[in-house]
Amino acid sequence: MLKTLQRIVEEVGSAASMSDALAILVANIRTALKVNVCSVYLVTPGSEHLVLMATEGLNATAVGKVRLSFEEGLVGLVAQRAEPVNLDDAPQHARYRYFPETGEQRYHAFLGVPIIHQRRVLGVLVVQKRARRGFGESAVAFLSTLAVQVAVAIRQAELSGEIQRLLRGELPTDLIIRGLGGSPGVAIGIARVVYAQADLEKVPDRSADDIEEEIAAFEHAVEDVREELAQIRQRMVRALPAEEQTLFDAYAMMLDSDHLIGGTVQRIEEGTWAPTALRDTVRKYARTFEEMDDAYLRERAADIRDLGRRILSQLLAQERGETPYRENTVLIGDDVSASQLAEVPPECLIGVVSARGSSSSHVAILARALGIPAVMGAENLPVGRLDGREVIVDGYGGRLFVQPGRQVRREFTRLAREERELARDLSGLASKPAITLDGVTLPIYVNSGLLADVEPALKSGAEGVGLYRTEFPYMVRDRFPSEEEQIPTYRQMLQAFHPRPVTLRTLDIGGDKPLAYFPVREDNPFLGWRGIRITLDHPELFLTQTRAMLRASDGLDNLRILFPMISNVAEVDEANELLTRARDELLEEGASIGVPQRGVMIEVPSAVYLAEALARRVDYLSVGTNDLVQYLLAVDRNNTRVASLYHPLHPAVLQALQQACEGAHRAGKPIYVCGEMAGDPAAVILLLGMGYDALSVSVAGLTRVKWVIRSFTRVRARALFEEALRLEDPLHVRELLDDALIEAGLGGLVRPGKR
Ligand code: PEP
Ligand code: MG
Repeated sequence: MLKTLQRIVEEVGSAASMSDALAILVANIRTALKVNVCSVYLVTPGSEHLVLMATEGLNATAVGKVRLSFEEGLVGLVAQRAEPVNLDDAPQHARYRYFPETGEQRYHAFLGVPIIHQRRVLGVLVVQKRARRGFGESAVAFLSTLAVQVAVAIRQAELSGEIQRLLRGELPTDLIIRGLGGSPGVAIGIARVVYAQADLEKVPDRSADDIEEEIAAFEHAVEDVREELAQIRQRMVRALPAEEQTLFDAYAMMLDSDHLIGGTVQRIEEGTWAPTALRDTVRKYARTFEEMDDAYLRERAADIRDLGRRILSQLLAQERGETPYRENTVLIGDDVSASQLAEVPPECLIGVVSARGSSSSHVAILARALGIPAVMGAENLPVGRLDGREVIVDGYGGRLFVQPGRQVRREFTRLAREERELARDLSGLASKPAITLDGVTLPIYVNSGLLADVEPALKSGAEGVGLYRTEFPYMVRDRFPSEEEQIPTYRQMLQAFHPRPVTLRTLDIGGDKPLAYFPVREDNPFLGWRGIRITLDHPELFLTQTRAMLRASDGLDNLRILFPMISNVAEVDEANELLTRARDELLEEGASIGVPQRGVMIEVPSAVYLAEALARRVDYLSVGTNDLVQYLLAVDRNNTRVASLYHPLHPAVLQALQQACEGAHRAGKPIYVCGEMAGDPAAVILLLGMGYDALSVSVAGLTRVKWVIRSFTRVRARALFEEALRLEDPLHVRELLDDALIEAGLGGLVRPGKR
């Protein structure tokens, strides 16, 4: 037990905030004591009131909502007596009080111990079990010891004001939420939470701008639902037996009920936005029914929720299209979709943060195309409580700052200003070539997956498309697109950039790019059936797609085709054969289509060693560093937990890149880099030094990359690369290159969070 106790104290002590600490505390106690429930209540400073602050086992939504005085309930009794209360059957005790929102009536055994600091009760720790048998002495001793240990931390949090803020349901200032960088840049703005509109539970906390208006909107929505139900009833008269129709009477009664309607109105009057008020009232009301003994009445909870959803959609229907997006909007959500992002007028949108997804998610790619920062995979995002808050998005470091303090805000305001100035200064480079100070030209292409990229890419002076991810046209459908359906998308790209080259990559699904209509379930998808492996096993997919590409290129002659995830030469031979077959078929059908340039992606370690052999079979190689880094370092590119190990400047990566480059050149073929690494100014120096022939980057980084190339000689870049090869730590490589950038007058490209 002692070891467990020490471990809990350590874990609680290293929590990032008091709310995290309390959550860790209750979760650990519940496991250690094998109880059904563990909760912690804290005393509101200066009062004799306890508030439920964290729980494992009771309804999580009761946190912050259950409040009781020292005179009330068993928890109050523990605080009042300032000593443990240990009971076999709590509901039998005279002081027992039932709080419907906690869902606790199923528990009998109860043990509460006070959390005391210098004779003052700061809170109560409670454990509960279903069994009607109290707790042994060791449990009492364990809980009491823990209570003593956490008392000091709670007192400190009280002194710093953190407890008071927590009790008010406020988020602390300078709260930092970590995720993954999805699109580079920094932005300071106001959070706008987006959510699945039909889901009452996803409605965020928001306050009302105009209480009268909110009440009117709510009442209007209730009327609409009343009408809607009357119409449904009408339609059902003949279809449903009479007793089933009483359901509609029950609905009608609920719509008149003071609990649901009156309760919501009351919350709005307190200043809450109507959907938020409705969400809270429905939760409370439904839970009351769920606690009832009568099975029929318990079922009514589902009706209340259904009614709540109906009112919500009427409410939102009234609002739809009218909710103006403010300037400086930072779009935030559990799983922000590309269409939610597209709804925001571009001039209002300055950043995106999503609890799910990664830098390869559609929405992150769209953010990069728009040149706004994005943070993805921010798992601990308190989505419901962020609406309207000031936030800072750090797309470099993958961080979101909520309610930033003065110092953080000042620092990021400076950074954002510098970024704007830099972008303005660099826009002049759009029409200039990427040529080094010693006269070496390095074409800069763009990576794309969306037609939205075309205009900004052309404006930035892209010399073609180095990677068009064809997965996207596949993802937006509910089945594989036909040859005819694919042609217009490819043709648009080929035409927009003509006569510059456009690289269309054959389908690269699997791994982190699933297709809803082609589910592949594997224990280890990154090492499984993905990219070329799928399309070679399904030649019909490969042939349909390459036929569409070839037909789209008719008369343009700027098509390049790229094969992803190649790990051996046989795959290239097969892909080449299929491609030749696709073209032969078209020639037989009377088309006159030229032979496209073919390339192989180097993104699997085996391909690095085989670079020369692979290059002999095609016209060029293109290194996909996103995957290559993950496979070389055994670090999942989308996993926040190991993100700090994902180092594109790792010595092993640099050696692999050098080897691939040399292999291609031995075969007399050019080699490019199209992974995200090619957009990192520090890495650009190395790639230039290694002898890469071209780079392909996302639109937002294009002029920066040009700036780097135009500021160095290849000779200097080569010297820096050789120096980097002698370093053993990726952080030292980063330092070396950052210093070189600063020395060359490109300090504006050295950003925080990169080191
Ligand atoms: C890569 O792996 O570097 C790459 C460009 O492909 P994707 O990011 O689409 O996997
Ligand atoms: Mg890849």
